[in-house]
Amino acid sequence: MLKLRNVSAGYGKSEVLRDVSLDVGEGEIVTVIGANGAGKTTTLKTLCGIVRARDGSIEFDGEPIANLAPHAIVARGITMIPEGRQLFPFLTVEENLLMGAFKHSARAQRRERLEDVLTLFPRVRERLAQRAGSLSGGEQQMVAIARGMMSAPRLLIFDEPSLGLSPLLVEQMFDVVRRVAQSGVTVLLVEQNVFHTLKLADRGYVLENGTVTLSGTGAELLDSPHVRRAYLGH
Ligand code: ATP
Repeated sequence: MLKLRNVSAGYGKSEVLRDVSLDVGEGEIVTVIGANGAGKTTTLKTLCGIVRARDGSIEFDGEPIANLAPHAIVARGITMIPEGRQLFPFLTVEENLLMGAFKHSARAQRRERLEDVLTLFPRVRERLAQRAGSLSGGEQQMVAIARGMMSAPRLLIFDEPSLGLSPLLVEQMFDVVRRVAQSGVTVLLVEQNVFHTLKLADRGYVLENGTVTLSGTGAELLDSPHVRRAYLGH
């Protein structure tokens, strides 16, 4: 479904990604793990059209998408849930959700879409009338994910969804990612919570200094001595 080949990208004179190649198949949960500053967010931003790919190719459903405008990439069916939630704090939860359906095809059916999304996120329904800024961090994260689902994505990209959540909420968040995948949406997940992520993922890539150094199934990476030493502390 998504294919990156030898992608390089950076900011100004600094090159952050070098020769990054990765694949996400339809229906898979694929993860990218790596230390702070390894280039995970930059990878996601490059494939969403926010950072320019300087070299290499990005294909979605066999068509080139590298360096299309971000809204054109959303229109193809790729939506990213950004790190740090980025809700509109003074708008209600419902208003935030409806803004997620800005894609032309999603807009026409946004009320029906809202019902579908709320079935997946029953807790969010209880908060519809509340201002987003008044929710707890965990609730805000759920709303951010629900808002991403409002654009009816085929590929949903998560950038560190468990960041700043308590252990119990981290479990709930991973459960939500699982439910999103079960609903038929393909998932690309960047996470610092390596153990949970590899348990959940079908496949994963290890990114170090802007380069993919290792890849395999979630189980293979969990067993890898390098992953265990560098990311799991044993
Ligand atoms: P983290 O988990 O800390 O978010 P990451 O793996 O997602 O790490 P990136 O955010 O992709 O890493 O950052 C990779 C490198 O690019 C870092 O050295 C960072 O300082 C640099 N970088 C990120 N954003 C910018 C920017 N807007 N301008 C210049 N340099 C940037």
